[in-house]
Amino acid sequence: MSDVALYHEIVCETLGPVRRILLNRPQLRNAQNRTMLDEIDAAFAAAAADPTIRVIILAAAGDHFSAGHDLKEAQRDRSHQSAEQRFHQEEAKYYQICMHIHDCPKPTLAQVQGACLAGGLMLAGMCDLIVAAEDAFFSDPTVHSVSLASLEVLAYPFYLGPRRAKDLLLTGRRLPASEALQFGLVNRVVPRAELESTTLKLAEHIAKAAPFAVRLAKRSVNRMMDMAGFRTALEAHFDTHQVTHHSDEFAAVINGSLANSIDRGKALR
Ligand code: ZN
Repeated sequence: MSDVALYHEIVCETLGPVRRILLNRPQLRNAQNRTMLDEIDAAFAAAAADPTIRVIILAAAGDHFSAGHDLKEAQRDRSHQSAEQRFHQEEAKYYQICMHIHDCPKPTLAQVQGACLAGGLMLAGMCDLIVAAEDAFFSDPTVHSVSLASLEVLAYPFYLGPRRAKDLLLTGRRLPASEALQFGLVNRVVPRAELESTTLKLAEHIAKAAPFAVRLAKRSVNRMMDMAGFRTALEAHFDTHQVTHHSDEFAAVINGSLANSIDRGKALR
């Protein structure tokens, strides 16, 4: 086990053929700031380029996978962005980083405990498989909490089907791990104490398969998703999401207090 690069908000470990990328802001429930997102992007690229690595795990330190984007940083730095600035920033920091994970040529596993909310769900959702602890819970509260049409990347209609995706979006409710399994949002649910070992075993199992065959199997599924409109639909949603950033409803959120928005999110439990 060794650090493979000097990061500030994540830790990377090499466990034989497995690279584990660990979100490491546990005191802030792994809220994703810009540095963390840049480091995640760099860490996935490094793992993809390293011929000794066959599988990548995206995990998180502490009690929660990720509570989403760092809203305090967003309010401090980006609350008065122009349409152009926001479009470019969100395209680079959110949309493209997510698509890099989706397009990663190696299998990716999300290892999720506790909160996996909003931007946390957006990130975990780009991985190929999700292993969840029994205490994990998932939600996209953005319609209710910040008056936006979901997040920048809206992939769950493809994974869950439209009716379940609408349930998540329109209610903003928290989906416990057991229901997330029933929804098909996650692949496995295990006791919290077994989360790390189960995910690593699964990664090691996948790593035993011939890497070129694994790569092309993933590529075929991703290409079938594209043939069903995945990439075009996500690009269209990104633009739609930008429209809601310039609505009167979102302006009311920005001009109100951040605490109110966070409280609205908490009220959805
Ligand atoms: Zn946005």
